[in-house]
Amino acid sequence: MKSILTLLLAVTWLASAGKGFPAPLIVGSELDFPPFALQNSQGEADGYSVDLIKAVAEVMGLAIKFRIGPWQEIRSALERGEIDLLPLVAYSKERDQVFDFTVPHTTFHDAIFIRRADASKFPLNPLNTKEVIVMQADFSHDYVTSIGIPKERIFFTKTNPEAMRLLASGQHDYVIMPKLMGLLIIKAFNLSNLQAFGGPIEAYQRDFCFAVTQGNAKLIALLNDGLSIIKATGKYDEIYKKWFDIVDPHGIPLAMVVRYVGMAVLLLLTFLGAAFAWSFSLKRQVAQRTYDLQQEILERQQAQAALQKAKELAEQAQQEADQANHAKSVFLATMSHELRTPLNGILGYAQILNADNSLTHHQHDSIRVIRRCGEYLLTLINDILDISKIEAGRVELYPVEFYLENFISEINELFKMRASQKGLTFLYESFSPLPVVIRADEKRLRQILLNLLSNAVKFTSQGQVTFKMGVVANNEAMTKIRFQVADTGIGIAEADLNKIFQPFQQVGDFKYYSEGTGLGLSLTHRLISLMGGQLWVESTLGKGSVFWTELEFHVVTERGTAQFSNKEIRGFTIPVNSPLCKRKTTLDGKLEKCKILVVDDIENNRAVLVNFLTPLGFEVIEANDGQEGVAKAYHCHPDLIFMDLRMPMMSGLEVLQQIRKIQELQTIPVIIVSASVFDKHRHDSLSAGCTDFIEKPVDKSMLLERLQTYLGIEWIYQEWGLPTEPAISLEGLSHQQAKILHELAEMGDVIGILKYLEELEKTVTPSFIEKIRQWTDELDTQKICKLIEPKLHS
Ligand code: ADP
Repeated sequence: MKSILTLLLAVTWLASAGKGFPAPLIVGSELDFPPFALQNSQGEADGYSVDLIKAVAEVMGLAIKFRIGPWQEIRSALERGEIDLLPLVAYSKERDQVFDFTVPHTTFHDAIFIRRADASKFPLNPLNTKEVIVMQADFSHDYVTSIGIPKERIFFTKTNPEAMRLLASGQHDYVIMPKLMGLLIIKAFNLSNLQAFGGPIEAYQRDFCFAVTQGNAKLIALLNDGLSIIKATGKYDEIYKKWFDIVDPHGIPLAMVVRYVGMAVLLLLTFLGAAFAWSFSLKRQVAQRTYDLQQEILERQQAQAALQKAKELAEQAQQEADQANHAKSVFLATMSHELRTPLNGILGYAQILNADNSLTHHQHDSIRVIRRCGEYLLTLINDILDISKIEAGRVELYPVEFYLENFISEINELFKMRASQKGLTFLYESFSPLPVVIRADEKRLRQILLNLLSNAVKFTSQGQVTFKMGVVANNEAMTKIRFQVADTGIGIAEADLNKIFQPFQQVGDFKYYSEGTGLGLSLTHRLISLMGGQLWVESTLGKGSVFWTELEFHVVTERGTAQFSNKEIRGFTIPVNSPLCKRKTTLDGKLEKCKILVVDDIENNRAVLVNFLTPLGFEVIEANDGQEGVAKAYHCHPDLIFMDLRMPMMSGLEVLQQIRKIQELQTIPVIIVSASVFDKHRHDSLSAGCTDFIEKPVDKSMLLERLQTYLGIEWIYQEWGLPTEPAISLEGLSHQQAKILHELAEMGDVIGILKYLEELEKTVTPSFIEKIRQWTDELDTQKICKLIEPKLHS
């Protein structure tokens, strides 16, 4: 404990010690005030107070120098600032006005000394009646004055020993001085006729301090620290013992003991009180913190429970939503399957009949209408499905290569028809040459355009619908095409513009609400995003709207790759080196027919494939259920199998499993043809070992592509390039007429052309007039120029 204190004090000291006192401090020391201060035989300052200040100076690193002199002199020297400190000055309020004091380092009580001979008759209160000797300017002087002893009874000496000697010689009546000092003087000077009278004067004690000139707080602080250190290290006790042990036979006065013990007890009590208060407050703090923590834990537990509950509720809601979603998906899948199956028949036959050259033009037109209506119906079914798929985030793109012009003109034909049914003009305009073949998800692109155009027609009761498109940016492999649909319809209020892309949002005139679902634009918008584009709209209420988007596509430059959408394939060849050729070549060098097995429980579906594949030169074998499929596969060894997924008794995947068990059929391509629209079925089929998966209704070009891929065959075309229009006869068109028409067409003078046609009707063929009128309606005057060009040079 002691050493810790020492350390602490030393640290405090280190922070300030020595600084500011580089020169030695001058310490005044009394000439003759033993044992407190005296001059020894070598003429040096000595005594109790000298040892004290030396010890303090040492621990505080202060240099000191002594100036010895009588009390009066050194006291006034300190007042004048000639010396820096006095180590032994009893504290009083008056002195405090003049000096600055450290804490008391030693406390003594004064006592009355008398001659032994007077002891019996010395009055109890001698102070007013007897003559007293005191040291001049000493504390005792102040004391006797303060208790009212008349001046004439006070006698002064310069030092305390002198006072005692005077008393011993029989002069005056008593002396007042510190008790310890008096006893010491009696002993030192052998003044045995003197004695202390009574105990120490309780009311009058001397608190000896170090005193410095006023305003030197730093020095006071240093001295105080030094005193604390020497007390803590035991040095102080050592000094005290050295000077007072032998001369204080009575030991430390009781009052002092009481006082110090009292102080110690007080200190202890204070400490205990503080400790108790501290521990109480600590206890309270701990209790408060414990309570807070408990509250916190409770709150956390409650929050956790609430969270758990919310989680359970969310999970339950999610489960319910999943179940509902699943039920919806099952319903949609079933419904779509049921609708797609008959549609497959309608569309398939429409495609087959369309390729039949023996039909008349009119029949072809009718078939095309059947096909278009079928496709429209299919689009509707798909829309509903797409919404559910988009909601589930499961829409994927399937890009194929196709002829853009064919694609666009089919759409144009459909909308020309729809617009004319409503008495609207439909205008198509391409503002730049278009790429011949692009790679895109044809179905989705059609869906986007059909939707925008349907809306334009639906929300317009007079005027026109204009479909414009053209290339806006080009690089080697990619082309960015802008599609724009404008109408002169009811328009959309500005406040509604941000609503229309939200699902189920219908705005404006109520009468149109029943004609739609409010899903079209939402679907279109999402599909466009999926293709990497954006859908924009500008509209003025009552005047019309413009919707447009810009989409980027791969341009297919190699003509042959886009072969599948035209109708000119007439058959195929098997490359000589292909494995198929080797397998098909019989011993006598002939090539066997390529065999395709079609497994489907619905006759119509089989018929579509049979009628499509047979004219191309395949031998098609049919099986109307799974079992028959396995048996026929085993016996006939087909080169490729098309198989339905959902069949009674045995599903397509079960058939597949059986087939894969037959060694010769382990690697044969098996293509699942299904009306199912779910990616899960596609995924399951592929992981079960089928080679590919195509959707019903079967797209002819997709089928051709798959056949080429999996059989390694090469298609034979009747002729390359775009499908040609039936030749238009220029018969009856003179060079002059051709020139006029060409000029009008070059100028884009549509009205001029139509007027001039009336004149031409007399000479040229009706089919020529009809075609020119059609192109004029479509504003495709370039085609007119191209058609009549040969006549210009004739
Ligand atoms: P709907 O099935 O009603 O056509 P859409 O999602 O396609 O649904 O369109 C949402 C709404 O946006 C329509 O109900 C209509 O109020 C408005 N809208 C869409 N296209 C047009 C247009 N060309 N002219 C005016 N309003 C349109």
